Amino acid sequence: MHFHVITLFQEVCEAYTNSSILGRAQKTDKGKGAKVRGKKIEVKYYNPRDFTKNKHHKVDDRPYGGGPGMVMYAEPILLAWEKAVGRKAKDQKLKTKIKTLIMSPRGKTFDTKMAKEFAKKYTDIVLISGRYEGIDSRVKKILKAEEISVGDYVLTGGELPALSIIDSVSRQVPGVLGTFESLEEERVSSGEMYTRPEVLEYKKKKYKVPPVFLSGNRKEIEKHKLQK
Ligand code: SAH
Repeated sequence: MHFHVITLFQEVCEAYTNSSILGRAQKTDKGKGAKVRGKKIEVKYYNPRDFTKNKHHKVDDRPYGGGPGMVMYAEPILLAWEKAVGRKAKDQKLKTKIKTLIMSPRGKTFDTKMAKEFAKKYTDIVLISGRYEGIDSRVKKILKAEEISVGDYVLTGGELPALSIIDSVSRQVPGVLGTFESLEEERVSSGEMYTRPEVLEYKKKKYKVPPVFLSGNRKEIEKHKLQK
């Protein structure tokens, strides 16, 4: 799965996608037990500022019709998109399936069902992250993009939404989660969990792990979790 993020703030996103499970998934896995070899995902970044043609590399301007805030220019975003997937989109033989998403609080709300669908259907996902008031509406039309929201609240930029989508879709890509982690994913979980120590002392009070968890009886533990 190839992710292409169009953002003015690459550093913010990279710190996240290079860490932990997502970081590991971008490396070639030569591990013995690895079911899926090689890179599972790839994340690339494109800064609209690098695709501006004006002298000061301006990326936004005042909105036609008035109103507050600034609107991001369409052209640098379109050129960034071309750089990301333009060639792939033209070459039928490559059999790439490209999905373009525009981060927007007014979009369709993202959920696990969509994450699963995206992981299955597409080879390339372009995530366009807005800032300021948003993006010139012609981008959506030209790229036949879909507007996606990560929830009913407004953020200052589309970076966190883009990261949420990358994270959640990646978990659905075979081999990204270890065998154990993927088992966890499929299980009905109560969310109740404990690790060492068995007795935690905090402010002179003792907090014990419920005995069923120490019983070693997996059936009883599962039953307990389901009841919860
Ligand atoms: N008044 C603007 C707010 C823009 S917020 C509006 O109504 O659209 C700036 C950028 O942050 C947006 O362009 C979008 O890319 C991103 N963003 C903010 N909240 C978001 C959310 N809940 N889901 C997805 N993207 C969001």
